[in-house]
Amino acid sequence: VSQYPFPALENELLADHTTYRIGGPAEVMAFPRSREDLWAIGAWLKQNEKGYFVLGNGSNMLCSDEGYKGLVLCTRDLPNQLDFLEGDRVSCGAGLLNSRLLRGSAQKGIDGFSVLAGVPGNIGGAVFMNAGAGTGWIDDFLLEAEAVDLRGGARFIKKDELRFTYRQQHFLKDSELIFAVILQGTSADPQVAQSKLADGLKKRKAAQPIEMPSCGSVFRNPEGTSAWKCIESVGLRGKKVGGARFSEKHCNFIVNEGGATQADVLNLIGEAKRLVKEKLSLDLHEEVVVPRLRFL
Ligand SMILES: Cc1cc2nc3c(=O)[nH]c(=O)nc-3n(C[C@H](O)[C@H](O)[C@H](O)COP(=O)(O)OP(=O)(O)OC[C@H]3O[C@@H](n4cnc5c(N)ncnc54)[C@H](O)[C@@H]3O)c2cc1C
Repeated sequence: VSQYPFPALENELLADHTTYRIGGPAEVMAFPRSREDLWAIGAWLKQNEKGYFVLGNGSNMLCSDEGYKGLVLCTRDLPNQLDFLEGDRVSCGAGLLNSRLLRGSAQKGIDGFSVLAGVPGNIGGAVFMNAGAGTGWIDDFLLEAEAVDLRGGARFIKKDELRFTYRQQHFLKDSELIFAVILQGTSADPQVAQSKLADGLKKRKAAQPIEMPSCGSVFRNPEGTSAWKCIESVGLRGKKVGGARFSEKHCNFIVNEGGATQADVLNLIGEAKRLVKEKLSLDLHEEVVVPRLRFL
């Protein structure tokens, strides 16, 4: 749409951009390709006093069915280069899909990123969420990040300033986005790295309902236990509301069985939090992000 000083579409359905297949229209959806596009979006947001939120690959997002009267900044078309540097280091753009990082690196004989195997999303989303699995997080092998500020400017953030906790980052300003990163890999035999990757994906397929739309794990694991155990022990495995259900296969997943709304999923989330508090005296905290418009 030419009226915007950056690539954009109007009334784009978020259901088409999220793994949950839930979400109404975004008044404006921007698809920046460069730092300049990001700064143009920032200037436009201020000038038009519009709210916004950032959307990566939409793998961890539970969007509103009503949609958003504002701008959704989709990072899909940001640079997605995958460059191999000396010392088994890899430089990649925020728009690079985790799956391409893993496949491309394994082919080159670079290992070390396998905690991201089967984690949908792109590198920007993986850094923001400190994505990973039982044995580690992206934090473990992230050396440096470039953050672009929608208000103007960009900065390189070194390892000692990159602060993370479980599924959270604590170094970006509200107006900053992850634009590129450097990751530290380890050298490996390409055959071994590729078969390790295939094994990891096979294990996920066996354990998770990846054939259904979802956001992966809905809750973070509480200290000392697993969210799925809590959900199971309060009797919610398989519980359904509208089109949403606590998966029989992995009950920390709420799957969209067709036509689920944000309210259906929130209803199940609320019920799990209430019952787990009541019966186990534990607080469950969401890993899934419910986006809200914010202002620059
Ligand atoms: C089947 C399935 C399995 C999953 N398994 C796992 C798992 O094992 N481990 C795990 O950690 N997660 C898992 N997830 C959740 C999800 O894949 C991760 O959270 C992923 O890192 C999200 O990346 P994304 O690009 O999709 O980001 P989105 O979901 O689009 O966004 C997530 C958050 O990151 C922010 N964000 C996105 N890009 C940027 C950027 N460039 N700069 C600043 N902020 C940004 C968004 O504003 C939002 O707050 C799973 C999801 C599914 C559907």
